[in-house]
Amino acid sequence: MVGLVLVSHSQELAQAVKALAAQQTQGRAPIAAVGGTGDPAQPFGTDATAILEAIQTVYDEDGVVVLMDLGSAIMSAEMALEFLEPEQAARVRLVAAPFVEGAMAAAVQASIGMDLEAVVAEAMAALSPKQEALGVTVSPAPSTAPGPAPETPAGEIVARVTLVNHAGLHFGPAVLFVQKAAEFRAAISVRNVTTGTGPVDARRFNQVLSLGAEQGHTIELSARGEDAAAAVAALVALAEAGFGEGAEAPPPPVVAETALPLRGRMVLRGLAAAPGWAVGRARFLDRADLEIPRYRAADPAGEWARYKAAVAQAQADLEALAARVQTELGEAQARIFQAHALALSDPDLETAIRTAIAEQGWNAEAAVSDAITTLARRYEAMTGPRFQERAADLRDVGARVVRLLMAATETPLALEADTIILADDLAPSQTATLDRRRVVAFCTARGGPTAHTAILARSLGLPAVVGVGPALLAEVKNGEWLAVDGTTGTVVVEPDAETRAAFQARQAAYLAQRQAAAAAAQQPARTRDGRRIEVVANLAAAAEVEAALAAGAEGVGLLRTEFLFQNRHEPPGEEEQAAAYAQVAAAMAPRPVIIRTLDIGGDKPAPYLDMPAEANPFLGWRAIRIALALPDFFKTQLRAILRAAVSDNVRVMFPMVATLAELDAARRLLTAAAAELDAAGIPHRYPIPVGMMVEVPAAVVLADQMAPLVDFFSIGTNDLAQYTFAADRGNARVAALADALHPAVLRQIARVIDVAHAAGKWVGVCGELAGLPEAIPVLIGLGLDEFSMAPPAIPAAKALIGRLTLPAATALARRVLDLPDGTAVAEAVRAFVAALPA
Ligand code: PEP
Ligand code: MG
Repeated sequence: MVGLVLVSHSQELAQAVKALAAQQTQGRAPIAAVGGTGDPAQPFGTDATAILEAIQTVYDEDGVVVLMDLGSAIMSAEMALEFLEPEQAARVRLVAAPFVEGAMAAAVQASIGMDLEAVVAEAMAALSPKQEALGVTVSPAPSTAPGPAPETPAGEIVARVTLVNHAGLHFGPAVLFVQKAAEFRAAISVRNVTTGTGPVDARRFNQVLSLGAEQGHTIELSARGEDAAAAVAALVALAEAGFGEGAEAPPPPVVAETALPLRGRMVLRGLAAAPGWAVGRARFLDRADLEIPRYRAADPAGEWARYKAAVAQAQADLEALAARVQTELGEAQARIFQAHALALSDPDLETAIRTAIAEQGWNAEAAVSDAITTLARRYEAMTGPRFQERAADLRDVGARVVRLLMAATETPLALEADTIILADDLAPSQTATLDRRRVVAFCTARGGPTAHTAILARSLGLPAVVGVGPALLAEVKNGEWLAVDGTTGTVVVEPDAETRAAFQARQAAYLAQRQAAAAAAQQPARTRDGRRIEVVANLAAAAEVEAALAAGAEGVGLLRTEFLFQNRHEPPGEEEQAAAYAQVAAAMAPRPVIIRTLDIGGDKPAPYLDMPAEANPFLGWRAIRIALALPDFFKTQLRAILRAAVSDNVRVMFPMVATLAELDAARRLLTAAAAELDAAGIPHRYPIPVGMMVEVPAAVVLADQMAPLVDFFSIGTNDLAQYTFAADRGNARVAALADALHPAVLRQIARVIDVAHAAGKWVGVCGELAGLPEAIPVLIGLGLDEFSMAPPAIPAAKALIGRLTLPAATALARRVLDLPDGTAVAEAVRAFVAALPA
């Protein structure tokens, strides 16, 4: 670890800054403070010998950073360097950084194991947060991020964004972040402004994790290269959207009842990790520690090949596990195992393993185990529970590869019914594969409620208590009865009959309550006075269908087909597209599925389209404009949609339509695509209902002319708001202006609904506004027919709709159209909802 030496004229000042930095890093960085003369008569000054000693006390091969206050401190430090051995002196940097800020930044950076150059860079940049807070213009912080050199001399694009999602930039979100960064050619770096960590390469998974970016932290993105602006905009948009978080079902409400009896042999307390109650028999699950073979291998090339084969197999297994988890538990849960796969392909990890095999001659098992252990220890040495949890993920991944290398198989435990699994800790992959027919709960000695194991337990609906401590292992025996309360983190060992009965009754009531809530979400949405309202889902991937149905979706109001077109170097062919669309249509049938034709461009690039960099991508070559410019490319998608439409529930809609000519041209291409399928004798359905998105103000103004040409409108309020206020939704500085709840947008929605209804057409909203509790009563009052939203928002939306009546909602809607801004609208709606009968 890089050491830090603080040199001041004042002994007290040096010590105080050391204490401050030590507190910030919880004493994890080696810091020496030196200063003063030791002469009470003339206490202030510096001494080269004392500095030399200080350097030697913190010296390590990773290097030492020396920070000095003023004047002669610099000379003394330079002199101290001359006394060092040259190879040691080469690893010591005298850094011209601000003394206090630089010390904090350098200590934090050193404490998380960053290298000498990174520590120096961060110390040098340490003044910029203060300068920016005080409005001083500063040139961008020097970037030490590796990565390809800029291809063009275009300037650096810098943007900041504050993380809103609860997991911050940790595993799942980091996967999305790294994958998104990899879509661009620009060299992108990211740093954690809040902790002063980084910058790191935005494509390096483990480096991004090492930023320790939590909810509420501000990160700064810097990009250079031809598509730098689009890259930064896309990453900011991803962070602002909370990395799609929210897919983890919120913990269901806990049945409010009297306290449970807790009588038994003993009561253990831990942390509540997943709600629910269970009574069952204890069963210890301990993964036998693998005895890792360790030897110098005669054939490094052979070891490397063995390692590569094991990693390939581990990644295939993890993809399969992720696919299974995705179907059973959901997208966010699956991402845990995608992250495991990504962690394995991290270049830094691979380099460490290659060095151990090729240069040091270790066998593959030892090389993998050592590299994983080093990385995991680095996380464990960092502050914050999330780092400890990520270390557990890494060890899980490492054990997977080592087991494959040793061809060690895990024999599944034969479990009895009503088993409560006990373990020191459970790896996420063990939790995801627990036999849910027999396991009723689990308890661990270690672990925290935000670990992946706990997240998975909540998705599995298994009550769980974690972090009980060593007493769990010492006090409980295999086969003993346990009563577990996952809502309070309580475990009763050998509960008496009354306690067992009370726990079982509580669980039965809880399950009944959950089933009632799920059943209510499965009912068609209706206002309290009986108006039927369609509540459907926005999907960004075919695999999200199951989660949408489980949430109560009555169809798909927006299938964002971009998922097929991004993250690849070739466009998808007709067969692949037809299969993907048909999969969604079949899973949803007979419910309607609206397939939106591709909406690339703007912040969604597609490398194979050779899209030139544009000054204003959101005002540029995007969506329907690209489709109409590349008719053959577009017709491939239209043919695929018409082929999927044989299931009779498919509708199509065009994004970003601004003119009648665009709508007309798109419709003609749809007719031409049908004719081509006819000529080829390929089964399809035509005509099908055709709609357009209303997301450009011109389309609102022209809605009366457009209505006769469509079967429905779907209002894309995300874009409509950005184009209404001329405020880029990906630009953190102005994104707040693009408020879809503002009367400027609501009035446009009112106009579209009125015009469409007059022409006998129906209208939906598929922007984020549709799922917003502050918008739903207004949209009902304006007469909206269909609400399309992210699946997790559906149950609450349906429940709210069920409390509304049309006359009251209409009066509310009329009133809010005259309010001055979106905040006033939100307040009015909250007051309205608070006064509704429950
Ligand atoms: C919208 O603009 O509101 C919309 C739903 O489309 P997207 O968010 O995919 O641009
Ligand atoms: Mg849009």
